[in-house]
Amino acid sequence: MAQAQQPLTATEVSALFPAATPRSNIARYWPYISSALAEEGIGDRAMALLALATIRAESEGFEPIDEHPSAWNTAPGGHPYGLYDERRDLGNLGSGDGEAFRGRGFVQLTGRDNYARYGEQIGVDLLKRPDLANEPEVAAHLLARFLKEREAPLRHALASDNLAAARRLVNGGQHGLNRFSDTIRRGQPASVASTRSTCDTGAIAGLSQQVLDRLETQGALVAVAHPLIQLEGAHNNAWLQPQAAKALIAAVEERGEPLVINSALRTPMQQHLIHQQAQRSECGIQAAAPPPFSNHNSGLAIDIEDASGWRPYLERHGWQWLGAWDPMHFDYAAGGVDLGGAQVLAFQQLWNEHNPKAPLVEDGLWGPATAAAVERSPAAGFPSKA
Ligand SMILES: [Zn+2]
Repeated sequence: MAQAQQPLTATEVSALFPAATPRSNIARYWPYISSALAEEGIGDRAMALLALATIRAESEGFEPIDEHPSAWNTAPGGHPYGLYDERRDLGNLGSGDGEAFRGRGFVQLTGRDNYARYGEQIGVDLLKRPDLANEPEVAAHLLARFLKEREAPLRHALASDNLAAARRLVNGGQHGLNRFSDTIRRGQPASVASTRSTCDTGAIAGLSQQVLDRLETQGALVAVAHPLIQLEGAHNNAWLQPQAAKALIAAVEERGEPLVINSALRTPMQQHLIHQQAQRSECGIQAAAPPPFSNHNSGLAIDIEDASGWRPYLERHGWQWLGAWDPMHFDYAAGGVDLGGAQVLAFQQLWNEHNPKAPLVEDGLWGPATAAAVERSPAAGFPSKA
């Protein structure tokens, strides 16, 4: 299903190519390619990435070019491209065809059959004028047509992260696979897994918010807002269960001093990252419960500054200090419900809406399939549907 997306700009395209690729070529040729893809109805980001990855795999110069004479196509002492002359699988009929129908354009169109077939499809007589396959507009349409013909299996290969299969669909082999894959990776939105090294669960705030939006609308959580309460850090989701929030505000008003919260609600996705960081002794995290078994996942826990100063006030309002091994942490112990499973379920439903062909069981349980789906989810959240 096509999604409402702006076409990539030349600047965005440049980020997918190495520094050695002339920016002037990208600025010159990308508009032809972008409009040819749109004309074929494949102007969305996924197919544009496949087009760009194909271009880069064939030639990092980003221009429609002739295949160079090489040992692959030219015998020692023979005429250029002579090894292609008798390639019946390409439809070539003998001497001269190898050179006439040598690889050209962004996809390196090769052979009499391909020149005839794709030329007819785009309305250009490439049998008479094979050199036109290097004209910018023609080369762009050949690329778009080529991809359009393979659209369904290409989308499937990309969605299942099988880039070798995607490359094979276009090229028939693995030529340029590293460049092809690198282009796709650079162009894909950052996944949850790729943010682990940032040590900041705020990097997945977009995805987290999509899950929280579902819980919030059920009235399960309220935003903690009070003039004396400061929320530190982008990772902090300012949500608690209503009773816990009310009790916290009562404690703050009793003391009458600012309270600094370092962490309140976490989504299971954030808990997953923290748990992994703890297991790997990364990011200075000593210990963390696996998702969804932390009170942080239920909006019933806070990590705060000046814990000893706050302890008597909080304890008079239903909050308990966890102990010296996690000295910043307090749990709300005077009520509330476990929201960990509800959050996992909300993620599973969100995932299934966007991945109907690879659905998760909607059971609210955290298992390997859910964890793997979280890792692959876009950190910024799933794109809104058209
Ligand atoms: Zn804590």
